[in-house]
Amino acid sequence: MGRLPVEVVVLDRRNHHLFQPLLYQVATAGLNPSDIAYPIRSTLRSHANTGVRLAEVQRVDPQRRVVVLAREEVSYDHLVLACGATHSYFGHDEWSIHAPGLKTIEDALEIRRRLLATLEEAEQELDADRRRVLLTFVIVGAGATGVEMAGAITEIAFQAAARDFRRIDPTTARVVLVEAADRVLSTYPPRLTAKAEDQLRNLGVDVRTSVLVTGVDGGGVDTDHGRIEAATVVWAAGVAAAPLARSLGVELDRAGRVMVEPDLSVPGHPEILVIGDLAHVEKNGRLVPGVAPAALQAGRHAAAVIRADLDGRRRPRFRYRDKGSLATIGRSAAVAHIGPLQISGLPAWVLWWLVHIAYLVDFRSRLLVLFGWAWQYLTFQRGARLITQPWQPDPPAWPQEDGSDP
Ligand SMILES: Cc1cc2nc3c(=O)[nH]c(=O)nc-3n(C[C@H](O)[C@H](O)[C@H](O)COP(=O)(O)OP(=O)(O)OC[C@H]3O[C@@H](n4cnc5c(N)ncnc54)[C@H](O)[C@@H]3O)c2cc1C
Repeated sequence: MGRLPVEVVVLDRRNHHLFQPLLYQVATAGLNPSDIAYPIRSTLRSHANTGVRLAEVQRVDPQRRVVVLAREEVSYDHLVLACGATHSYFGHDEWSIHAPGLKTIEDALEIRRRLLATLEEAEQELDADRRRVLLTFVIVGAGATGVEMAGAITEIAFQAAARDFRRIDPTTARVVLVEAADRVLSTYPPRLTAKAEDQLRNLGVDVRTSVLVTGVDGGGVDTDHGRIEAATVVWAAGVAAAPLARSLGVELDRAGRVMVEPDLSVPGHPEILVIGDLAHVEKNGRLVPGVAPAALQAGRHAAAVIRADLDGRRRPRFRYRDKGSLATIGRSAAVAHIGPLQISGLPAWVLWWLVHIAYLVDFRSRLLVLFGWAWQYLTFQRGARLITQPWQPDPPAWPQEDGSDP
């Protein structure tokens, strides 16, 4: 919209644009946050008609055509809502303390802290049973994020631990990927799913499909196939649309997405357009997936609709073009489904990296990510292994120097 004769106000509660597809690399200490996040102001600096404001929108009032912030309201002629999605714990928000999800930089840093702190604790633990629990990592949900996390955690648990720690025996580490459906990456063709499962197992991941998680607590997860004791649990199972959608007072789907018109407007409010993960859009009777290409295409479409309104033309319908799906699994392991093409292994993995580097916002990020990835590949080292909060170890469990028990 930078070239339209309009005044644009971008409101976001974060000051940065985040490239979520590489967030799992921050969570697993492969990249630094600033490698994949870029200030929104800098991204839009060449758009003279655009102002950026760091602000959380509390609700939308469609009748009065205003968005409500903490201390003021901003009025609009057109409103484009692109608030994305958040985690869903299927009605069990209390699980979130024990099983963080991965959506924001804060989430990624918390997961990284837990992973690294657990390894440190395991290094100091003398009790073999407790050490086994500390070295058990459970990922709930085997969509693209869960599969990526599982693969990357195996590298930390099996390789980094073997090189840098003295007491940890990496052969006792376990990475368990739990999925309620009967296969991983269930939106991919069954042949690729089978390849993905093989690649995960080759990396050492314990893949458990058709297993439903029924509880999560500080000591592990309960499932309909028994309990898994684990110190680290990562949630990659459910997605819910951002809560702001509810304030529109219109029909939402089960995940809270807005049921939009074919031009992506809100029924009864043609001046409000909803795009990206927040919108429920269908193509040939199937939900358009919550992926970056769909969000980018919808963003361009929103600008085209506003231009049509300014010119007094009929609005175009949104047409989603499926560019295919890619999921990385680990070192030289990935799957790709692009049109009739189904590839896996090294070629899919190289393609995954090329596509993701190409879509990073700026040249500096591309260079840093490329370098970080090459370094990681050649040295097996994850460069961002920092625990940035004060270390508060549990009381020592090993005998004291004077021979007494702690
Ligand atoms: C871990 C992870 C991995 C992914 N991997 C891939 C991948 O490999 N390939 C792919 O195509 N897609 C991937 N996706 C999906 C892709 O990132 C999303 O589809 C895409 O980012 C959606 O864009 P969006 O603009 O709808 O939402 P987002 O990119 O989530 O942006 C929403 C913005 O709204 C802001 N916001 C939310 N609520 C408010 C409020 N109340 N007030 C102010 N600001 C607000 C947020 O701060 C954020 O900046 C991944 C997503 C995740 C989480």
